[in-house]
Amino acid sequence: MAAERTFIAIKPDGVQRGIVGEIISRFERKGFKLVGLKQLIPSQSLAEQHYAVHKERPFFSTLVNFITSGPVVAMVWEGEGVILSARKLIGATNPLQSEPGTIRGDLAIDIGRNIIHGSDGPETALSEIALWFEVSEVTDWIPSDYSWRTEK
Ligand code: UDP
Repeated sequence: MAAERTFIAIKPDGVQRGIVGEIISRFERKGFKLVGLKQLIPSQSLAEQHYAVHKERPFFSTLVNFITSGPVVAMVWEGEGVILSARKLIGATNPLQSEPGTIRGDLAIDIGRNIIHGSDGPETALSEIALWFEVSEVTDWIPSDYSWRTEK
């Protein structure tokens, strides 16, 4: 079975606020493996496809304008249970309701500036990775301390 992967994006507010390193560090320290990483300013089309599920919502155009307003750090993280675990690390959508200790709970205050995106399930993870990354941009590698992270 292929290793579980998820799509994580640090939104323009996270990049502008200089907390990219802090956010990446939380995933690294947890023990997940970074297998894809790039910075880009998303096109209108990419942003609209990424948030297509929200296209009828009142915040859709504001959200698309925001996500295309500056650099986004797009990532693929790998590890057993990474999809759900990343959502827990990230915290609730509204940062005022995110638990302390989560990324949004510690580092954000506004639902429209909640600094990070993470895929919400296995199908979304697959489609978002395919939307943001070429196959050749995702790297298979084994961390040298791998056997100290997991028994399997
Ligand atoms: N969002 C917003 N206003 C809302 C709800 C959502 O601006 O009332 C934005 C917010 O940036 C959120 C994104 O839309 O992260 C996607 O919403 P979703 O419900 O998928 O939340 P997420 O999966 O990011 O926690």
